[in-house]
Amino acid sequence: MKVGIIGGGASGVLAAIYAKKRNDEVVIFERNKECCKKILVTGNGRCNYWNEDQDLSHYQSTTPELLSEFFNIDYEVLNFFKHLGIVPKIKNGYYYPFSNQASTIKNALLNELKDIEVKNNYLVTRIEKLAKGFNVISDNETIYVDKLVLATGSYAAPKTGSDGMGYKFLEKLGHTIIKPLPSLVQLKGYEKYFRIWTGVRTDAKVSLFINQQLVREEIGELQLTNYGLSGICIFNLSNAAARALDNKLEVEVNINFMPFIDIDYKKWFIKQTTITNKKIKELLLSILNEKIVEVIFQVPNKLFTNLTEAEQNKIINLCTNFKIKITGTNTFNEAQVCSGGISIKEIDLQTMESKLVKDLYVTGELLDITGDCGGYNLSIAWISGIKAGLGVAND
Ligand SMILES: Cc1cc2nc3c(=O)[nH]c(=O)nc-3n(C[C@H](O)[C@H](O)[C@H](O)COP(=O)(O)OP(=O)(O)OC[C@H]3O[C@@H](n4cnc5c(N)ncnc54)[C@H](O)[C@@H]3O)c2cc1C
Repeated sequence: MKVGIIGGGASGVLAAIYAKKRNDEVVIFERNKECCKKILVTGNGRCNYWNEDQDLSHYQSTTPELLSEFFNIDYEVLNFFKHLGIVPKIKNGYYYPFSNQASTIKNALLNELKDIEVKNNYLVTRIEKLAKGFNVISDNETIYVDKLVLATGSYAAPKTGSDGMGYKFLEKLGHTIIKPLPSLVQLKGYEKYFRIWTGVRTDAKVSLFINQQLVREEIGELQLTNYGLSGICIFNLSNAAARALDNKLEVEVNINFMPFIDIDYKKWFIKQTTITNKKIKELLLSILNEKIVEVIFQVPNKLFTNLTEAEQNKIINLCTNFKIKITGTNTFNEAQVCSGGISIKEIDLQTMESKLVKDLYVTGELLDITGDCGGYNLSIAWISGIKAGLGVAND
């Protein structure tokens, strides 16, 4: 039996390695000159390949009730990396290779492909379902395979080879595609003051509101830019924000620049004023970046205790509940992943085989499963790759 795998990224390579355990003929079709190009850019070149906190709340899908059926082979992923000889460096539950180099993961994976046929520089332009098996078609030739794994990735980071072709193949075969949208991506707005604070990084709590309803909160390093907001905490809000914007809903991010205050805000300002005897502007300047103060300082410069109640409330609000209207996200070019994809209702989540097209398997970012920042998207790739590799060998 011949198994074809279109796409030699994280999920395709895992599918190939596991398929090869029980099949003689496994072939990867990869458009780049080498497999695993995207892995090199992951985790800022360090590859955050796993996270020990595998709570399902770190994953999103339009059918979240199916997620627990998918995430049930953590032990196999960890065994696999152990078998590769990867020594993890674990920081707050985030797994990186001890070398701190994504190339360690890439090279270890490529090494496992030694006995597998890899057709590099091979762009698949079309697939054809036959009564039994598939034709995999490029500009120059047609190759028959009995079983086919689609592992072409999403629209995100097209420089690395993934430009959404897999969605088109799947749509033609009758699958439902939940509209792919940029995710783990920066959020944009149009505020004049962005040019004042551009370049500032600060710890903050950010809250996403959709039609005035609180949807998600994150704490972390916030990056203020000339177009809007960035940073991991913002990336983790971007999936819900992008979907809401696409549905023409109102999206707002509220920033708490002082997340360290855990008591009544007014009491805290009064206490700090008593301790320092500083007027409000100087008080803020001793805590926050001066460019943030320039934007949020909108009351008379007096001791906090000498402000009117309305002025006190105003400055507290600007410091702890600063509202920004979100108008868009950056593009697929800047996004780390895509949300949406092929409906997982149409996939057997143990084998990754399509329920609509026999002998067709789907992996990785093509699926309507998206993870938070923190190793979760590669987790989806490894798990679906392993399942598909074992799945093709099942009968
Ligand atoms: C900048 C950046 C940083 C990231 N950091 C992390 C991180 O630290 N941790 C984490 O968990 N996730 C991270 N991710 C996300 C993670 O890399 C992806 O979710 C994961 O690689 C998806 O795997 P995949 O196999 O589905 O697709 P991909 O890795 O995109 O692989 C798809 C492959 O298919 C090939 N292909 C596509 N179409 C064709 C075709 N028609 N013919 C032949 N070949 C084709 C492509 O060239 C590509 O090699 C990051 C992503 C980016 C862009």
